[in-house]
Amino acid sequence: MSQFDTDLIIAGGGLAGATLALALARAVPSLRVTVVEAFPLSAEALPEDYQPSYDARSTALAWGSRLIFEELGLWRRLSEHATPIRHIHVSDRGRFGATRLNADEHQQDALGYVADNRWMGLCLMRELLDTEVQWQAHTEVVDMTPIAGGVDVALKTADDSHRMTAQCLVVADGGRSGLRERLGFQVRHRSYGQNALIANVSTSESHQFSAFERFTDAGPMALLPHGAANRAGQQSALVWTLTDEMLEEVLALPDADKCRRLQERFGWRLGRFARIGECSHYPLKLSTVDEPVRPGVALVGNAAHALHPVAGQGFNLALRGLMTLVEQFRLAVEQGQSLGDLQVLSRYQQLHRQDWQQTAQFSDSLIRLFGPSLTPLAVARDAGLVGLDLVPGAKRWFARKAMGLGGRRAVIHKPKTGTGEPASHD
Ligand SMILES: Cc1cc2nc3c(=O)[nH]c(=O)nc-3n(C[C@H](O)[C@H](O)[C@H](O)COP(=O)(O)OP(=O)(O)OC[C@H]3O[C@@H](n4cnc5c(N)ncnc54)[C@H](O)[C@@H]3O)c2cc1C
Repeated sequence: MSQFDTDLIIAGGGLAGATLALALARAVPSLRVTVVEAFPLSAEALPEDYQPSYDARSTALAWGSRLIFEELGLWRRLSEHATPIRHIHVSDRGRFGATRLNADEHQQDALGYVADNRWMGLCLMRELLDTEVQWQAHTEVVDMTPIAGGVDVALKTADDSHRMTAQCLVVADGGRSGLRERLGFQVRHRSYGQNALIANVSTSESHQFSAFERFTDAGPMALLPHGAANRAGQQSALVWTLTDEMLEEVLALPDADKCRRLQERFGWRLGRFARIGECSHYPLKLSTVDEPVRPGVALVGNAAHALHPVAGQGFNLALRGLMTLVEQFRLAVEQGQSLGDLQVLSRYQQLHRQDWQQTAQFSDSLIRLFGPSLTPLAVARDAGLVGLDLVPGAKRWFARKAMGLGGRRAVIHKPKTGTGEPASHD
């Protein structure tokens, strides 16, 4: 009989927390996992009831993330509403450089996919219902105290406070993580002095499953194919980078003028911008925690690192980190170590570090190279984009980054059949 109430507490049941819980249920079913989620998520909302909404927020999933979701047995369902990205077109407004990536050049069905966050959440919940994972909704993790061999976690609901002990606490409470600060983790923020405006848009021409990354003198923008999974429609998900002043100005415009402004910035590759949906916006910054582990605690997902969304890498990077952590937990159970043992958590940190450093650098360098114009950089980026198109090696490198195939990817081993060796996909 364990001395703890549960083996692992995951603070936050967003995309990162829920995926970690599912991966653990698949890889180490003997573990007792409790997810504590502040939001009152209803277990009755199931994929069967899903109605896509025009204004849904979505995430670009790299090809590598599809492979992970396949291993988790989630992909078949998820793909019902995941729009494939078959081409990526990178261009620079007012300059001649451009590069194109095509899935068929990589002998793949797609370079990546776009899926609504709500849809992914429902698919994860559906799978979790068939596991032993305990889900405590409408409950917040408010504090943690180290105890011998584990942690004592303080929880709060609308009408009571209680505590729960575990071998380890994983903090997955998002980019504005209050818990991370409360537990004293050092976060480095670098502001880009820009904001991301997010909205779904309709264009007069079909996207033909193409994603567009366009670099303008005001900063980068991305349009990702959105809507039906098997029919090339006219809806795209927009990420538009704007300075504070421009953001204010654009938000104050009526929709028709927003579309006109967008047209000026993006051009006519998708025909006329006919509609723009509900707009939301976020200040852009790179937030990283250099030491995301300590005895009994690990940070994952946006709580550990938040990247610029234009490169669409944040969740994909998080997913690879989660699989690395799962592999270390599986080995710890096999070797009779505590999940919160610093050796176990440090191994996860070491194995994931190179991936997050390289991915953060990749996102950051795109923004620096293609951000607001500086003449020498503008010349370099023309050469860079053209070069990328002409030099197969460079293009392949970029494609692998965009497809999320860099870094280390642990394989979920079914109990008793696994070899224990994490796979490297570098
Ligand atoms: C504008 C934008 C666009 C993006 N686009 C992409 C993309 O195209 N591709 C990509 O890979 N990534 C993208 N990302 C990143 C991606 O959205 C995140 O990496 C992903 O959502 C990770 O989520 P998370 O689970 O770490 O955090 P969240 O989704 O923020 O989830 C945190 C959860 O924790 C809960 N919570 C908070 N505090 C507590 C507490 N104290 N106790 C219990 N529960 C708590 C919250 O209710 C929430 O459910 C984008 C991000 C932004 C901002």
